[in-house]
Amino acid sequence: MSAIPHNLQVVRERIAAAAHSVLRDPQTVALLAVSKTFGPGAVIEAALAGQHAFGENYLQEALDKMDAVNPVFMAALPHQLLEWHFIGPIQSNKTRQIAARFDWVHSVEQEKTARRLSEQRPAHQAPLQICLQVNISGEASKSGVAIEAVPTLARAVAAMPRLQLRGLMAIPEPSDDTEQERKSFRQLRVLSEQLQAQGIPLDTLSMGMSADMQAAIAEGATIVRVGTAIFGSRKYAK
Ligand SMILES: *Cc1c(COP(=O)(O)O)cnc(C)c1O
Repeated sequence: MSAIPHNLQVVRERIAAAAHSVLRDPQTVALLAVSKTFGPGAVIEAALAGQHAFGENYLQEALDKMDAVNPVFMAALPHQLLEWHFIGPIQSNKTRQIAARFDWVHSVEQEKTARRLSEQRPAHQAPLQICLQVNISGEASKSGVAIEAVPTLARAVAAMPRLQLRGLMAIPEPSDDTEQERKSFRQLRVLSEQLQAQGIPLDTLSMGMSADMQAAIAEGATIVRVGTAIFGSRKYAK
């Protein structure tokens, strides 16, 4: 047997243990399986083991994988739909396909990009579910909107008709220090609470990966994005 179903079970147990340790219901933490660089076979195996949400970073790779996976999966388990989340950097010439083919986008950091996604989301589909990617590590990281700019962006996105603003996402600097990890995640949670206090309804904190999901869950993550711990280490061809 391949390792994927086993790894998934181990990750689910890690999530449950982390949730229990801070008296959270494990059901409030959703697992997003990050399948970038792995082929359709890996996604199908995970899906057959009960995983239904998948995260992808590279558009063309994701589209090829969806085209291979969706028909197989629909034939095998027609009542359980797969959900696709775009979590990578967004190039503005790619928004049309992202808007048409994904259910969620976690990596919105510009109003211009959000507007294109809203305009390009097909009318017959449910609104695209959106998280704003926040730069909580300060100048060390180039990705994400600066904390000070989040309220303005959040208000703009919340008003866009074909988008549904769900929450915030962050990728903090890796750290060996659990307290440091928690501090970064706490910043994102506090920011989310501030936005909610200003009347912007948010229910999602997309934070935590293979190495730091425990700290993220302790600070309130509602989606953890996990690749390596499920699929193994990535081998980049480039
Ligand atoms: C690759 C990636 C992940 C998964 O990281 P792992 O360390 O393999 O669990 C999560 N989030 C984003 C945005 C990623 O690009």
